[in-house]
Amino acid sequence: MTTTTFASVSPLDGRVVGTHPVHGADEVAAAVARARAAAPVWRGLGFSGRKRVLHAWRRAIVADLDGLIDTVRAETGKPRGDARLEILLALDHLSWSAAHARRTLRRRRVASGVLMLNQASSLGYVPYGVVGVIGPWNYPVFTPMGSLAYALAAGNAVVFKPSEYTPGVGVWLQRAFVRAGGPADAFSVVTGFGETGAALCRAGVGKIAFTGSTATGKAVMAACAETLTPVVIEAGGKDALLVDEDADLDAAAEAAVWGAYSNAGQTCIGIERVYAHTAIYDRFVAAVAERTAELRAGADEAARLGPLTMPRQADVVRSHVADALARGAVLRVGPVPADGSTLQPVLLTDVDERSSAVRDETFGPTLVVNRVASMDEAVEKANAVRYGLSGAVFSKRRGRDLALRLRGGMIAINAVIAFAAVPALPFGGVGDSGFGRIHGADGLREFTYPQALTRQR
Ligand code: NAD
Repeated sequence: MTTTTFASVSPLDGRVVGTHPVHGADEVAAAVARARAAAPVWRGLGFSGRKRVLHAWRRAIVADLDGLIDTVRAETGKPRGDARLEILLALDHLSWSAAHARRTLRRRRVASGVLMLNQASSLGYVPYGVVGVIGPWNYPVFTPMGSLAYALAAGNAVVFKPSEYTPGVGVWLQRAFVRAGGPADAFSVVTGFGETGAALCRAGVGKIAFTGSTATGKAVMAACAETLTPVVIEAGGKDALLVDEDADLDAAAEAAVWGAYSNAGQTCIGIERVYAHTAIYDRFVAAVAERTAELRAGADEAARLGPLTMPRQADVVRSHVADALARGAVLRVGPVPADGSTLQPVLLTDVDERSSAVRDETFGPTLVVNRVASMDEAVEKANAVRYGLSGAVFSKRRGRDLALRLRGGMIAINAVIAFAAVPALPFGGVGDSGFGRIHGADGLREFTYPQALTRQR
């Protein structure tokens, strides 16, 4: 029986916006057992039956879009426009996964080997049964939807552990699924802190899809290793934008500012570093500084940046900025206030490459812009971090060449972050950014295992 609850507190005004149970190991095990019982029924609906439910879920979300926007804003503090955008992107993934599951996963014949001409062979993709999804708070709809929708469309039941900062969003999504006619145990939610997530890792599910920090990703992997439960790890990033000497500087500056400061910089695929060619460096920095200075953070409706969702992240931002300044960086826009978690955007230039602001994920409204003598140097510096999530290049002549040299799962040319809006493209990284893929056909297959059949004729 649940004995403990926790409050979801809005970063906008400190108000308690919800109270949720802290689900312990027994309750997580019970949720997984119910999901295991529901899984054959859900799978038995077939691709078209599941597609009907997933489309109805989409309609149920759209029917109360403002309700979901309010919940996201209340729990994360993000501006309504940012909340709306992440929901609309998530809905695209919901439609795409439902529409493409059959053609991606249906059993198909494969050619026989030359020595096996009297055999008929086929390849199918089998859902794991129950998938555990562990989510972060920064995009509490978009990010988990990349696992929830794809795992469900592939025929799995799902138990979802939303972040302790955004439990209300998780519960909202699950209720909409049930309103849409989805079986409650095919998609259920458990709430709580890291211990609840750890219990889900140990509950004997077929696969864990984790999105969060690199450190937690390692703990998730270690817990899953005990039972050899396979995992997808979608972790942090330190993504770089390269600006070539022939780039459209206005477009590049606009993209850099959007990539760095939207969602108050709390974006795994946000731009945290820029390497700009020395020929255009001063003009580019001036264009970025002008746009950055126009942005304002606050809890009111008109602010372009909300307060940070997780107050302690403000201390990470403060320490990265202080370290950069101590090593000689130039503060072009700022400073970071000494306390509080409503941070005005910070622009740093000429930052020592050994600074934490260059090497570690800051996850706040900061941007580092450094000068490079050549695009070879830009590529080398961009790739010199442990992370490898995404990247971007602005160049008229050699965008593709430079993009192909960047280490990362997703690269945008003359844009930033654009790949996240293309459901057919796989999403994920390398190195400290994790492994495995959500989104696209790879994302659907990630929630299945291949099963080979060979029949003697
Ligand atoms: P976090 O690692 O603190 O928490 C993520 C989730 O893991 C939460 O639900 C948390 O309760 C749970 N958790 C904590 N300890 C656990 C444990 N031992 N076992 C199992 N679960 C546990 O991350 P966060 O602060 O919520 O999210 C921010 C991070 O997520 C950033 O690093 C960001 O880059 C990353 N992120 C990555 C992607 C991506 O797709 N690559 C997307 C969004 C966010």
